[in-house]
Amino acid sequence: IPVEEFDLVIFGGTGDLARRKILPGLFRRFLSGQMPKGARIIGAARADMNSDGYRQMIRDAIAEFGGDEASETDCIERFLAQLHYIPVDAKGDGGWRELHALIRFKVINAFYFSVAPSLFGDLAECLHRFNIADESSRVVVEKPFGRDLTTAKELNATLAEHFDEGQIYRIDHYLGKETVQNLMAVRFGNVLFEPLWNNHYVDHIQITVAETVGVGGRGAYYDTSGAMRDMVQNHMMQLLCLIAMEAPSVFGADAVRDEKLKVIRALQGIEPHHIVRGQYAATDDVPSYRDDAENSKSHTESFIALRCEIANWRWAGVPFYLRTGKKLKARTSEIAVVFKDLGHSIFPGDEKRHRNILTIQLQPNEGMQLQVTIKEPGPGGMRLIDVPLDMTFADALGPEADDVPDAYERLIMDVIRGDQTLFMRGDEVEAAWAWTDPLIEGWQARGDVPKVYDQGSAGPEDAMMMLHREGRRWREIK
Ligand code: NAD
Repeated sequence: IPVEEFDLVIFGGTGDLARRKILPGLFRRFLSGQMPKGARIIGAARADMNSDGYRQMIRDAIAEFGGDEASETDCIERFLAQLHYIPVDAKGDGGWRELHALIRFKVINAFYFSVAPSLFGDLAECLHRFNIADESSRVVVEKPFGRDLTTAKELNATLAEHFDEGQIYRIDHYLGKETVQNLMAVRFGNVLFEPLWNNHYVDHIQITVAETVGVGGRGAYYDTSGAMRDMVQNHMMQLLCLIAMEAPSVFGADAVRDEKLKVIRALQGIEPHHIVRGQYAATDDVPSYRDDAENSKSHTESFIALRCEIANWRWAGVPFYLRTGKKLKARTSEIAVVFKDLGHSIFPGDEKRHRNILTIQLQPNEGMQLQVTIKEPGPGGMRLIDVPLDMTFADALGPEADDVPDAYERLIMDVIRGDQTLFMRGDEVEAAWAWTDPLIEGWQARGDVPKVYDQGSAGPEDAMMMLHREGRRWREIK
């Protein structure tokens, strides 16, 4: 279904994110017929070039990052015809009058701030000074949204000087993932799970986001951030919220975000022995984290494992184990809801612990799996085994699964539709930092040093021990 006609201005339209994700994503939406003929995408950045130069840049970007569809060349020319470019300086007057002249004020206007956050204030101010944005405009801002509570508040205040909260779309691309939305469909669209979704039936929940890549070329930037700020405060916190929140009264922006906020506010502080941080070691000729970060004394974590608790009636006493890291054994993101043991087995001789586990796989191979216990086939008596009930979306949905938009595509179209459900609200981001800050300050004050872990492993031994001590174990990273 095509969206309404729009003018989308991408500040930072020549940058890495625009070329790798935003423009190729818009091209795929164009191919799927969702972009109206009259829609226009206006790149705006510092580089001095004209629209033809920009079209060439984006043609190259789509060829490199756009996937298979990029070969459909006659389509790409029609898409490129909808592109424009204006050189603009966020710190000066250059380009703004030209941008004003280009914008059509009768259609939806959206402004994507794909630039460093230090420029958000300048852009917002110029958009108003030159009468380009009004109360119907939308602004999209990228992560990182601050590096602590103070800076997040400053950013929120800067944006609030010029825009209402209802106009601000803070992107967390994890929320655009199909399986993440499916999490809500599964929880609130089935009668089966919700009665069990509490501390009476759930033993614990694990959320894993494992990467095989290191910090590579981003080492210097990453070293100022670390896994807690880069992954936990935003993406993993969002996953935690969706898995733990109460049912909103309706699937709408404020109802959903109100419930997520309550989860974040109910998160407890964490004892130091429930936080394990790590840095990957060098192997043979492959550099270590500290080599990649070009900081031989770095205490920044490339891995973190946490044991969190949510203090409310539903979840009191249920540990939520979160872990994320770089240079691990495999690239995978999954959430596992591990249900409690049966109180009593009626099958003599069956001493094995059987557990139902619902696993939601976010990447790769988006899908869901429910581990159930059945009888081992054959004449051996009532011997029980655990088997998966498996649903990989690609298998279950057939060719339709191929047309699932990627996270960025989906979220940009939500901006045009004016749907904020999958975007973070200002108070949510601040609450997340308010929980994260004391943890970071705590390990800094104690002078904690990250444990070293082998590349290609599942992280430091201490992270394993954290669960072993409680008679539990992490799921295998594979
Ligand atoms: P980049 O350095 O590749 O591009 C920066 C862009 O900003 C360029 O187009 C540049 O012309 C423009 N710019 C810089 N100064 C300007 C000025 N004074 N006036 C107008 N334009 C100016 O950056 P990027 O990697 O594309 O990142 C953009 C934003 O997206 C950042 O906030 C970053 O944190 C965020 N982000 C990037 C990625 C990624 O994968 N690259 C992922 C997540 C979030």
